Amino acid sequence: TVRTRFAPSPTGFLHIGGARTALFSWAFAKKHGGDFILRIEDTDVARSTPEAVQAILDGMQWLGLDYDEGPFYQMQRMDRYKEVIQTMLVAGTAYHCYSSREELDALREQQMANKQKPRYDGKWRPEVGKTLPTPPAGITPAIRFKNPVDGVVAWDDMVKGRIEIANAELDDLIIARADGTPTYNFCVVVDDSDMGITQVIRGDDHVNNTPRQINMLKALAELDAKIVIPQYAHLSMILGNDGQKLSKRHGAVSVMQYDDDGYLPEAVINYLARLGWSHGDEEVFSKQQFAEWFDLDHITPSAAQFNTEKLNWLNAHYIKQADNAYLVKDITKRLAKLGVTVSEQPALSAVIDLYKERANTLNELAASIAYFYQNPVIDEVAAEKHLTAEIKPILAALTQSLGSIDWQAEAIHHEIEAAVTSNSLKFPKVAMPLRVMLTGIAQSPSIDQVMALLGKDEVLARINSALK
Ligand code: GLU
Repeated sequence: TVRTRFAPSPTGFLHIGGARTALFSWAFAKKHGGDFILRIEDTDVARSTPEAVQAILDGMQWLGLDYDEGPFYQMQRMDRYKEVIQTMLVAGTAYHCYSSREELDALREQQMANKQKPRYDGKWRPEVGKTLPTPPAGITPAIRFKNPVDGVVAWDDMVKGRIEIANAELDDLIIARADGTPTYNFCVVVDDSDMGITQVIRGDDHVNNTPRQINMLKALAELDAKIVIPQYAHLSMILGNDGQKLSKRHGAVSVMQYDDDGYLPEAVINYLARLGWSHGDEEVFSKQQFAEWFDLDHITPSAAQFNTEKLNWLNAHYIKQADNAYLVKDITKRLAKLGVTVSEQPALSAVIDLYKERANTLNELAASIAYFYQNPVIDEVAAEKHLTAEIKPILAALTQSLGSIDWQAEAIHHEIEAAVTSNSLKFPKVAMPLRVMLTGIAQSPSIDQVMALLGKDEVLARINSALK
């Protein structure tokens, strides 16, 4: 069966690129009825933090990327890595290296000076017929993988096509430091083989690690026939709107930032699904639909460009579709953050109904309806333009007639219409100043509906105070 994994390092937040990698791995597993595994690669103790682990778990949950196994933590698997290292030492696919840091630094400097690629010189590498130097006393050795020297390591990348690297390009990687800690590439290899990963789907910043990892997996497979080399798919990176590598500058910090900014997870998922993968002209689809359609053949090998407008467009779509009960809960929280307490009247659900077709984000939605629950901040420029001396008496007269009607949108509309006709005006001449006085700005949904929801007393109070 298919088994994929998402293997983030908790050294930062779950960013948008990581989320897309997770989504594609998840979708591949689901499509093939397989398992999706979450593995936290926390061996970089200095840079890993519990907050970052939590942010990854929160991000996965918010996006609805549920995993079948895990989270596994590499720091909890140290004994296993050490066990595999022992096996490799015994089998002769790994060896002790006593070269000191100073020695290795000097070697590198010399190679750089000669314009050579820095690489280990193989001093402690055992070979048939070679006599190794005597190990220096009192030094704990590092352990290196005995990489093949001849031939090539090749794989058919599911995104990039065939890739071949000459073994001569690779040197003997340290798999355990002198202090005994296993190194990054080695842990990945042990985990991928122990966890039975069949497809490694990850960012193409890992392409250079792949030949080393395949060589180690091959060495392990020689000791254990059950080990299969996974297939690899390296996803191109995501660029910002400006074509530069996506970074904090683009506001793409953490996935949870999108929650804070008022994006729905469905919109973010849909957006990420289309980022570097296409399915004809289909733009709008659910995570489940994506899992059915997803394949690696339609991934664009070139970098994908992040487009905030497209994300906003999808978000607006999902806000329109969203369940009102969900929106009421969400918007109540966002209004509270703006310092606005939602009262019983007007019903938030009705207010949301009036506005949900007009918002790109939930924050926009919250901000645009705040005036229902607190006095609007009047836009001075709009007031100057629309609330003219000539219209004020007409508005004052309108309040009189509004005062006596049954408070329904239709009746309200009728009164505004009457004021418009009897003064030989155009509708906006009256509607615009009403908008400014009641909502603070000159844009709103149909003004009679706004007024109906605001309630008669509130409408009259706001108009009167604005006309003063
Ligand atoms: N831990 C790596 C990262 O966060 C991913 C490793 C992998 O997918 O093989 O970039």
